[in-house]
Amino acid sequence: MPAATVEEIVSGIAVLAGATGRPLRLMEVCGTHTVAIFRHGIRALLPGSIQLLSGPGCPVCVTAAADVEAAIELARSGTVTLATFGDMMRVPGRRESLAEARAGGADVRIVYSPLDALALARREPSREIVFFATGFETTSPLVAGTLAEAERLGVANFSIICVHKTVPPALAALLGSGEVRVDGFILPGHVCTVTGVAPYAFLPERFGKAAVVTGFDARDILAGVAMLLAQLAAGKPAVEIQYTRVVRPEGNPRALEILGRFFEPCDAHWRGIGTIPGSGLALRGQFAHRDALRRFGLERPEVPEPAACQCGAVLKGIKTPPDCRLFGKACTPERPVGACMVSSEGSCAAYYKYHDTGTAAAGQAAP
Ligand code: SF4
Ligand code: SF4
Repeated sequence: MPAATVEEIVSGIAVLAGATGRPLRLMEVCGTHTVAIFRHGIRALLPGSIQLLSGPGCPVCVTAAADVEAAIELARSGTVTLATFGDMMRVPGRRESLAEARAGGADVRIVYSPLDALALARREPSREIVFFATGFETTSPLVAGTLAEAERLGVANFSIICVHKTVPPALAALLGSGEVRVDGFILPGHVCTVTGVAPYAFLPERFGKAAVVTGFDARDILAGVAMLLAQLAAGKPAVEIQYTRVVRPEGNPRALEILGRFFEPCDAHWRGIGTIPGSGLALRGQFAHRDALRRFGLERPEVPEPAACQCGAVLKGIKTPPDCRLFGKACTPERPVGACMVSSEGSCAAYYKYHDTGTAAAGQAAP
């Protein structure tokens, strides 16, 4: 049977939205979904009764200023080279970003993969190379693989600042707080490629929420929305996979194995949201020598969020970016105040880029 066209999916959505008979709020967890929804004008294709909210799924947005500050302190110390993904460079720390610290003389280098950072350590054995390990379950298995390689090769001058986070505890915390009203979740395709769907079973079971793991093109997202509406119309919330060409229910067992070998769950601080129990990954005890903060005796500093920045409420889906009075004025992609304006996948940056193009839905402002 030929796959449904976009037009057919859109009319199916209209019918299902009518069948539910109430306004619905769906949260896209992943930053790439947020950008794709804007780019493809998906809000404009949906009935007015469906509101799409952005969630906490951009790793750059949720990296705490305190963690950026720890990375800056190490880079400034003189003996350490800090290797980081480029998108972390402009995230504000206490007073400056890694880019500004580099301009001021700190040794900060951009890498495209953790393996590049390990290669740097092998090329420069007299320097300590510290990789700023950010990101969700998509990135952390790569870092675990890099650590395995460092162990195998006996590379002694390589360590990481580990601020990896995991998505399911953040969703549980959002729902458990009672602050956020969401009927269903568009789950992150790449993350679920690694984890599978079992970690999301709590969404229907504990909170009665619909959930669909969705791919990233317009058809995928619309088909995911249709699947969510079908669950809601039938009153049978579940976790389903729309992105079956990539995601297996059991995830990627090899990635999960290496992840579990190097990391264990810990509490983590999410920018704008606060500490979420069990939502981070810490190096296991036998790999403590790879923990840069411990190795260099650095405490994670206390850094307050910028005054008036609403990133927390934006990441929780309680407010939309234009509700922040700094949006587009004091805070722009060129001069970001909060992290949501830094990454191209951040909600504020996506709103800033697309809001005036007519692709953002009029009338889909914050509740
Ligand atoms: S890493 Fe993949 S799943 Fe995670 S936020 Fe980015 S695009 Fe989404
Ligand atoms: S507009 Fe800037 S300051 Fe306001 S919430 Fe977004 S990132 Fe934070």
